[in-house]
Amino acid sequence: GEKRPTGLNALADEYLKIAYQGLRAKDKSFECALLTEYEADLGEVNVVPQEIGRVLLNLYNNAFYAVRERQKQRDSSYRPTVTVLTAKTKEGIQIRVADNGRGIPETLQSKVFQPFFTTKPTGEGTGLGLSLSYDIVTKGHGGTLRVESQAGEGSTFVIELPQ
Ligand code: ADP
Ligand code: MG
Repeated sequence: GEKRPTGLNALADEYLKIAYQGLRAKDKSFECALLTEYEADLGEVNVVPQEIGRVLLNLYNNAFYAVRERQKQRDSSYRPTVTVLTAKTKEGIQIRVADNGRGIPETLQSKVFQPFFTTKPTGEGTGLGLSLSYDIVTKGHGGTLRVESQAGEGSTFVIELPQ
């Protein structure tokens, strides 16, 4: 794919719906609140849309998986929520994908971007999503990808792209 000026709000929203509808097609009982906060004058960023779309899809699928895992604990007051936020920064733009799922223990946070690292059962995860995403964002687009997480509370993945 070729880089071209891309509206990341529309891209983030399009893939959010694709991911959520895809999951709901397989599991009709799955419901998750989607909160979005898109910066109004984000402008366009020079990216390969399919590649950043793939990164977003990985992050969304991981987020939905994490809230489902937490939902299995059957706390009746738990409300699964995935939040997507875009913002302008000094050097570029930021996309945050936050979930209130099961979170990632601190000892594992440095491992999640390694190829083949997965905590999912065989068939449910390859452990390649985040390592591929990391390469797309950093090597492919000169940006950064990082995680902030609290076990049992949720996780936020932060993409930063130069503009
Ligand atoms: P996979 O989803 O195939 O396991 P990934 O590279 O996408 O591979 O993720 C690696 C691991 O990182 C997951 O197995 C999981 O343990 C952890 N992880 C990723 N995203 C989240 C998240 N949003 N919440 C909790 N754990 C996560
Ligand atoms: Mg994954």
